Amino acid sequence: MKTLDSAVAIHEITQHTATPERFRVYTARQLDQIPQLRQLSEQQRFDMRVVASVLPFRVNQYVIDQLIDWSAVPEDPIFQLTFPQRGMLAPEHFERVARALREEWPAAEFNALVAEVRHALNPHPAGQLEHNIPQLDGERVEGIQHKYRETVLFFPSSGQVCHSYCTFCFRWAQFVGDKDLRIAARESSRLCDYLRAHPQVTDVLVTGGDPLVMKTRNLRACLEPLLAPEFDHVRTIRIGTKALTFWPQRFVTDEDADDLLALFEEIQAAGKHLAIMAHYNHWRELEPTIARQAIARLRATGAQIRAQGPLLAHINDDPAVWARLWQTQVELGIIPYYMFVERDTGARHYFEVPLVRAWEIYREAIQRVSGIARTARGPSMSSDPGKVEIQGVTEINGEKVLALRMIQGRNPDWVQRPFFARYDEQATWLNHLQPAFGEERFFFEQD
Ligand SMILES: *Cc1c(COP(=O)(O)O)cnc(C)c1O
Ligand code: SF4
Repeated sequence: MKTLDSAVAIHEITQHTATPERFRVYTARQLDQIPQLRQLSEQQRFDMRVVASVLPFRVNQYVIDQLIDWSAVPEDPIFQLTFPQRGMLAPEHFERVARALREEWPAAEFNALVAEVRHALNPHPAGQLEHNIPQLDGERVEGIQHKYRETVLFFPSSGQVCHSYCTFCFRWAQFVGDKDLRIAARESSRLCDYLRAHPQVTDVLVTGGDPLVMKTRNLRACLEPLLAPEFDHVRTIRIGTKALTFWPQRFVTDEDADDLLALFEEIQAAGKHLAIMAHYNHWRELEPTIARQAIARLRATGAQIRAQGPLLAHINDDPAVWARLWQTQVELGIIPYYMFVERDTGARHYFEVPLVRAWEIYREAIQRVSGIARTARGPSMSSDPGKVEIQGVTEINGEKVLALRMIQGRNPDWVQRPFFARYDEQATWLNHLQPAFGEERFFFEQD
């Protein structure tokens, strides 16, 4: 009863009068139906078709109409975030797919070429598929990953799409239909079995895709079992989502928006912390009125919103963008959490920023905001041994080095260990770095 009452109260605080907006989405086949694209040249539209044959493409009407500034296209950051660009494929890959499209290859041959190109794009960085899938009673538990002692990732199968797709997504391989590349659970009973056997797990992170594409009814079926006393060791439920950007209507005008907020209240009434891990790349995502209503309604449930997202060329490789993003987040009651380094997969070469430059951008952005907004860690790499933060460039005994820190480690004993790499202006990932001081290996490579 209590939850129902407060759900009504939230409803009143941030009342919505607009009629529910219908969710309309475009995929690669419907590129031609997007009116705004007519302002682009024939060549640009063809280039998009080429790239969208290889990498996932999906964008909805709200993003097109309210987030993209069409007078600034193609440089517009949200256009770059959602629409395929020629540079996202290596020239050689691009040419081969372009020729196949022009020559109208038969489906079987075309698909084989596309599969080959996808395979060359490192679809599973950091050994995602093999390394982190746990076993229970000698059987693989599908749809969960357990890499760091205290946190289990859960991938419900109906949450493996998003309201739009990001062009830089490191999970892109899941979206292009290769069944053997997917990792998802049909229901949460195996997750529950696993959690029963692992009392050291304090956090469950529900992720995707975007779990908030699910109807509240389905999400409830996944989460409600975790509220039982036997799962008291699970203290925090996190939900990774970009719905606050791509479809804020989910929290405001969708038919089951109020039910979703009621579910979030129930989780907290059961004594757990509910953390919404919101993916943001640019302050523009926080501007529309409905996006702000969604944030206000979520916060009124008592959920905490934390923000994270990668640093990306063409989208946000500018300290001013990050400073304004963090400052706006703070004003809206969101806690900046992580700045990530773009992973080694998909269109990475288009978006990548060298580690040294990433740190400079982070530092300059941090310098522009007060301590309240300096809660974002970063830039951080989610690499095979663990999450590695670039702490800075410094000089030790005359040697210029990168100072690094293991924020999360495959081995819990590695957590918070500082370490050093030789200064390298070009390096864009951990595996490009060499240990400093003439050492042969990094500490985590010893065993
Ligand atoms: C980042 C991450 C987590 C959570 O780490 P926190 O530092 O607790 O936020 C858990 N599992 C994986 C695989 C991760 O990449
Ligand atoms: S919202 Fe997240 S999972 Fe979905 S496409 Fe973007 S980065 Fe990938």
